[in-house]
Amino acid sequence: LAKQRGKAGFVRYVDGMAEPVLAHMQLGGELRQALDNDEFRVVYQPIVRLDCNRVIGVEALVRWHHPTRGMVSPADFIPAAERTGLIVPLGRFVLRETCRQAVAWLAEFGPDGLQEAGLNVSARQLHDPDFVSDVAAALADTGLPCERLVLEVTESAVLRGTRVSRALCELDRMGIRLALDDFGTGESSLSLLRAFPAAIVKLDKSFVDGIEIDDGQPAAADARKAVARAVIQLAHALGLDTVAEGIESSEQVAALLDLGYTVGQGYHLGQPMTADGVSRLLALQRGTPPPAGNARDSGR
Ligand code: C2E
Ligand code: MG
Ligand code: MG
Ligand code: MG
Repeated sequence: LAKQRGKAGFVRYVDGMAEPVLAHMQLGGELRQALDNDEFRVVYQPIVRLDCNRVIGVEALVRWHHPTRGMVSPADFIPAAERTGLIVPLGRFVLRETCRQAVAWLAEFGPDGLQEAGLNVSARQLHDPDFVSDVAAALADTGLPCERLVLEVTESAVLRGTRVSRALCELDRMGIRLALDDFGTGESSLSLLRAFPAAIVKLDKSFVDGIEIDDGQPAAADARKAVARAVIQLAHALGLDTVAEGIESSEQVAALLDLGYTVGQGYHLGQPMTADGVSRLLALQRGTPPPAGNARDSGR
C-alpha cells in the first residue's frame, strides 16, 4: 500500500521506514487490548525504615502479564504507552487500584500500619487536563485520605511547562504528597526543588550503587557519597523526607544510615510483591509498635 501511494506521489518515505511506525502502532493496539483484557496487574514494593526494617509505605509498580510473552517489564511498554497516550487510562487503572488497596490496608492494619502508598505518574498524564480531577475522584470514591497518597514524578516530567506545574501545585494544595523520583539524575535538580512543591526526594539508585565501598574504588565511591550527602543535607534544609532507592545489601543500609538516611527501598529490603505479600508483612509487624525515633528524617 505504501508503495502504491508512493508511486502516486503521496508518500515520500521508502518502504523500510514504515516498519518502526507499524511496530509502534501494533504495540499501541496491543496495549489497548491488554487493558481491555485485564492483563495489567499492580505489584507493591515495600518502603522501609532503615533502622528497624519496618514497612512504612509501598510504591505501586505496574506489570503486564502477556498471554504468550509472559511478564513484560514496564521499561518495555511504559515508553510506548506514553507515546500512544495509553498511559492515561493505564495510569488511571494503577491509581484506582492503589487507592483501593491502600484503603483496604488502612482498614485492616490501622493508621500506623502503612503511612503511605505511592505510584508513578508520567509527564503525559500530568499534561492530561483531567488528571487532577481523576485523582480527586479516585480519593473520593475509595475514601483514601489525601495525605496517604504519594505521586512520584521525575525531574524531566516536572520541567514540562506551566500546565504540568499548575497540576502539581493543585495536587499539593489538595494535600497529596509529591515525590521527586530518581533524584539527582536530572538536569537541574537543585533549582527544581525550589520551584516544585515536593514533600519527598527519592535518591536515585545510581548514587546508592557502590556507596558502601570504602576502599578498592575510593574515588568513585566518594563521588557517590558526596551526592548522597548533598541530597540529604538539602532535604533537611528544605524540610523534605527522603527515600534511598535500589538498596541491595546490608552494607549499603549501614552506609546510608551513616549519612543520615532513615528510609529506603530496594531488593535487599523487599522485592515488588503482590498486595497479599504486603499484607503478610504488615501482619507480621502488627503487634510491634514502631521503635522510638522518627521514621522520617525531616522529623515530622
Ligand atoms: P521507578 O519509579 O524508579 O521504580 C523503581 C524501579 O526499580 C522498579 O522497576 C523496581 O522494581 C526497581 N528496583 C527496586 N529496587 C531495586 C533494587 O534493589 N535493584 C534494582 N536493580 N532495581 C530495583 P520496574 O518495576 O521495572 O519499573 C521501572 C520504571 O517504570 C519505574 O521506575 C517507573 O519509572 C516506571 N513505572 C513502573 N510502573 C509505572 C506506572 O504504573 N506508571 C508509570 N507512569 N510508570 C511506571
Ligand atoms: Mg518511582
Ligand atoms: Mg525511582
Ligand atoms: Mg528509577
